Amino acid sequence: MTYDVIIGLEIHAALKTESKMFCTCPNVSEAPANTVVCPICLGHPGTLPSPNMAAIESTILLGMALGCRINRLSRFDRKQYFYPDLPKGYQISQSELPLAYSGRLRVNDKVISITRLHLEEDTGKLNHPPFEDYSLVDYNRAGTPLVELVTEPIIPDAATAKAFAQRYQQILRYLGLASADIEKGEMRCEANISLQKKGCWQYKDGQIMALGNNKLNNKVEVKNIGSFRSLEKAIDFEINRQTKMLENNEHIKAETRGWNDQKNITIGQRVKESSADYRYFPDPDIPPFKLSPTFLRSIKLRLKELPEAREERFRKEYTLSEEEAILLCADKELSDYYEKVISELGAWVEAQGDSWARHDKKLPKLAANWLLNEYTKLKKIHPEKTTLITPENMAEFILLVYHDKINSSAAQSILEKMFLGGGEPTHIMAEQGLEQLDDEEQLRQTVTKVFAAFPDQTSEYKNGKVSLLQFFIGQVMAETKGKANPQKVKKILEELNT
Ligand code: ZN
Ligand code: MN
Repeated sequence: MTYDVIIGLEIHAALKTESKMFCTCPNVSEAPANTVVCPICLGHPGTLPSPNMAAIESTILLGMALGCRINRLSRFDRKQYFYPDLPKGYQISQSELPLAYSGRLRVNDKVISITRLHLEEDTGKLNHPPFEDYSLVDYNRAGTPLVELVTEPIIPDAATAKAFAQRYQQILRYLGLASADIEKGEMRCEANISLQKKGCWQYKDGQIMALGNNKLNNKVEVKNIGSFRSLEKAIDFEINRQTKMLENNEHIKAETRGWNDQKNITIGQRVKESSADYRYFPDPDIPPFKLSPTFLRSIKLRLKELPEAREERFRKEYTLSEEEAILLCADKELSDYYEKVISELGAWVEAQGDSWARHDKKLPKLAANWLLNEYTKLKKIHPEKTTLITPENMAEFILLVYHDKINSSAAQSILEKMFLGGGEPTHIMAEQGLEQLDDEEQLRQTVTKVFAAFPDQTSEYKNGKVSLLQFFIGQVMAETKGKANPQKVKKILEELNT
């Protein structure tokens, strides 16, 4: 390709605080329209906003997690915004002195620089009833705290952009700062995309600059992205669209385009405003504020283990593969649960007078497999069920499988019963008679019985028709109602074949 792709991201995330950003209204997502409002978030004249300290702390904590520098002197600014979903006619945001700046986040072996992290207030929601000549506005969300992250324009492709947004969501969740559900609009991603001819530009001081007499192509901003998949698709669509235009010597307009999820295309919406149009100025109602070293240190103490570190630790401590570690840690709750199960497993092993060191390679891996496969499948099939399996019962279950007390089909049915109704796996096993049939003598008797029932197949098998092995295993399993240990049945049958 003759062009370099240059992508920058802007991501807004709604913070999970008790109250809104500048008033004492509760910060809730579900409430009847216009019931969570007050004179401050409705922008009545004469009211005074006062910043939410918890939101400021959250943004600083997030900045620390992303390796940002923290501005010791910060301030709120007014951004001109004339649209009915914000009643004041401006948005309180941060321009010159954001809370955090100059950070980084590693995704897929690439380090993506983060320009800034700032705090602002969200808008209300507009409703446009179809076929009506009016619109409705709900101010419940107006004035709720939003943290905005801006990356440097250095993301090279759509897959990296998507991975960045996913990793960022994970960090917000690990720190407990936001649910950041992109499908619910709690996290909103916008991408700036431009294509520049190779060798005709350079990246300097956070800016894309033309080299020599070359002229830069304009960048296009894409909004309206409702999922991580759409983020990737929208960027890829833009790369294709812009490549074709440049190949036809067409001019690319600097504009904002919206992603259309049904048609899988971006559609031009409006010419992009330049930052001068925002006419930022310091909000005279909120004095600039200083952050003391003691205060910053107290926030730093709240830093927790982040996803990347946890993945690394899981690989080392539990000898998981990279893929297993990534999958487990993708969901913080699941990875927390996994660790509780491991600690219960340790307790079980020791209670049996055994030593953990003898099993610490195999048991954690077995547990990871069951959590990632069957358990995750059950959660998907029954999304309404909040899990009833205690870590203790899960550990006991893993040990039943580990010690070959149950075969895998019995294990699946026991796990489902535990998932739906709770209970101890050993009880369920006894109740349902699912204990694996391991006794050699009993298995041999069953084989003899099956042979008697299928004399023709038996003589063919004994004369060397090996392909009948599976048939006979199946018959023995059926005869024992699925309880036979399939490995042992196979061994016995193979002996009789020779
Ligand atoms: Zn309010
Ligand atoms: Mn913003």
